[in-house]
Amino acid sequence: MHNPAADPDNMQMTDFWCDFCRSPWSEGRPMVEGHQGSLICGSCLKVAYVETLVSKTSSAPAGSKCSLCLEERTDRLWRSPMHEDVIACERCIRQASTALSQDPDSGWNRPA
Ligand SMILES: [Zn+2]
Ligand SMILES: [Zn+2]
Repeated sequence: MHNPAADPDNMQMTDFWCDFCRSPWSEGRPMVEGHQGSLICGSCLKVAYVETLVSKTSSAPAGSKCSLCLEERTDRLWRSPMHEDVIACERCIRQASTALSQDPDSGWNRPA
């Protein structure tokens, strides 16, 4: 998401916020973009990855709308612990994990 108070003609790095924890983009906090400006940060992605792909739990009802792909998904879903209307689907978590782990600058690795 974008900082609601940001100037759209002069967006700074810190105006890009993770939808799931509302932390700003920074050097130590890589981001992956979803649709319509939605973003998930590396920290949230780690938690989402562990809960959804390692522990294989789902924290939102099937058919909930994913905040990243904007589709109503029936795969496993991860709900933000901080903002309960913000949800990521298993497919988006997988795609974002692949994108970040292939970007050497992100410093991000899949949790074991
Ligand atoms: Zn986050
Ligand atoms: Zn999705």
